[in-house]
Amino acid sequence: MRNVLITGASRGIGAATARLFAENGDRVFLNYHRSHQAVQALCAELTAQGCSVFPLQADVSDPQAVQAMFRTLSDHGTDIDVLVNNAGIAQTKLFTDLTDDDWHTMIDTNLSSVFYCCRAALPAMIRRHSGRIINVTSIWGQIGGSCEVHYSAAKAGIIGLTKALAKEEALSGITVNAVAPGVIQTDMLSPYSPEELQVLQSEIPVGTLGTPSDVARAVFFLASPHSSFITGQILSVNGGSV
Ligand code: NAP
Repeated sequence: MRNVLITGASRGIGAATARLFAENGDRVFLNYHRSHQAVQALCAELTAQGCSVFPLQADVSDPQAVQAMFRTLSDHGTDIDVLVNNAGIAQTKLFTDLTDDDWHTMIDTNLSSVFYCCRAALPAMIRRHSGRIINVTSIWGQIGGSCEVHYSAAKAGIIGLTKALAKEEALSGITVNAVAPGVIQTDMLSPYSPEELQVLQSEIPVGTLGTPSDVARAVFFLASPHSSFITGQILSVNGGSV
């Protein structure tokens, strides 16, 4: 049974990904920050189905909290086989209005968290000469999003990290890839009005918004034996937008 750690697994894409891995027989650790009740409800539901799931609270933007989370895992003799760096926040703001705090919160939560979690998971993966890391970037990290410059910069950083780390770990039996979702129906879209969502949808070639499950299936593939020769790649899940 593989040990899978998914950051930001209380809601949206992370929750759908946790569900998919758990229902396919993996032992899944669901990291979250604040949504205690949501993660408890998801874990109760999956446990009732016979799945092996465990909630793990940690603010992944905090290096000490990440260290403590991995210490908890190793205290229980658990090495992570599959790390999914999914936790993230979004903010829409004019570049000229961004404060230092906006910038640092975005970079810490969306990019530094990936560094902290990879750094903590890799020693055991290298020792066992096996492991999968899947990072969740964004279409805006690929093409840039207006009024989301800090978000786009963090997500572009994930792309660079993914490609470079993949090369460094290639001979260690570890693959490092990313998925780049387009517009996916989660709480992250809550700032948009129905009319704005209609416009976004009309710009997507397949004519629909994506679902969390669409992204989860791409992540699951990148963790499967079917993708063992794929590393350093960015898999777009965006309905044909880019
Ligand atoms: P979401 O529904 O808002 O969920 C965000 C998740 O991240 C929650 O589980 C949240 O935990 C967690 N999180 C946030 N800050 C955290 C922190 N400091 N420490 C630990 N967990 C934290 O968002 P989503 O749409 O599923 O997004 C998931 C990922 O996909 C993000 O990286 C996002 O940038 C990316 N993405 C989303 C879209 C989209 O259209 N939805 C498009 C491209 C990329 P709590 O609930 O505990 O706060």
